[in-house]
Amino acid sequence: MILEVYNLNVIYDGGNNRIVRAVNDVSFGVEKSEVLGIIGESGSGKSTLINAILRAIRPPGKVVSGKVVFSGIDLFAIPIDEFRKLLWKEISYVPQASQNALNPVLPVSETFYYIAMSHGEADKKSVIERARELLKLVSLDPNRVLSMYPFQLSGGMRQRVMIALSLLLNPKLILMDEPASALDMLNQELLLKLIKTINQELGITIIYVTHDILNIAQIANRLLVMYKGYVMEEGKTEDIINNALNPYTSLLVSSIPSLKGEVKIINVPLEDPLLSKEKGCPFLNRCPKAFGRCKEELPEIRLVKDRKVRCHLYGFNGA
Ligand code: ATP
Ligand code: MG
Repeated sequence: MILEVYNLNVIYDGGNNRIVRAVNDVSFGVEKSEVLGIIGESGSGKSTLINAILRAIRPPGKVVSGKVVFSGIDLFAIPIDEFRKLLWKEISYVPQASQNALNPVLPVSETFYYIAMSHGEADKKSVIERARELLKLVSLDPNRVLSMYPFQLSGGMRQRVMIALSLLLNPKLILMDEPASALDMLNQELLLKLIKTINQELGITIIYVTHDILNIAQIANRLLVMYKGYVMEEGKTEDIINNALNPYTSLLVSSIPSLKGEVKIINVPLEDPLLSKEKGCPFLNRCPKAFGRCKEELPEIRLVKDRKVRCHLYGFNGA
């Protein structure tokens, strides 16, 4: 395992008892060289989970408990400056809305140099040479792009620059938070291809966060399905797509356009996370298969064959 997450709990404390439990007892592992897809609708805690792994939760957010281990290193236990050394170099990150993450007053070349320099790479010429290679890899023309400022690039180009930047120091793991959401269909296709290349040819492990099951199913080996901060199901992509166990996962899978080209619209109102119940299943109010026990008791995550699922339908003896 390259990354292990154990029993992570993150809250946002808005005062006056307005506590949002954004990540609830989340545990999972990521194997070296795989693409793990984390899928869930808006507000399910995906970005909070990624930010917690990156030690980037800020007040009113708080990591209440949990442990994250990267290549044997306990990430929450090391001093922050040691953690910063790992960032970009071992673990890098393409943030949500990353098309807006570039420094607006620096040309692209300086942003590459700045990141390299802050990790002890002082030779500007070799940094720019590497930046050129990476920009080519993401299908951008380095001769044009290196001297441009972020406002001169389209959203799709900025997204590509961010991905090139995430590769600069040869990381082993890249966390990508909704990288495709701001892109049109064609650019989404290109981005998925690029992510496949990064994974398969450079051997980099990728965690890819999205609400779009259609995109993720094309590139992820395994999926982690989140709902209201809970992991609802985890397993191989093909198993989950072909035979979702958790009713929430079934709902997600049913939103994939069928071969006939129909799209089933999920027309169920979202719930206010503040109103979520302390007991019972988080998906209770929307679940077509809920029964008595689901109101009373939060289902544990259980192993069902080679899958993990949080649902009382798979209650006893893995039945
Ligand atoms: P999206 O798909 O929209 O990016 P997400 O799955 O990334 O959603 P998060 O952004 O992690 O979800 O949010 C999880 C929950 O935490 C939501 O209920 C959200 O309102 C709440 N939350 C997130 N950031 C904060 C914050 N800074 N202060 C208070 N609550 C927050
Ligand atoms: Mg998010």
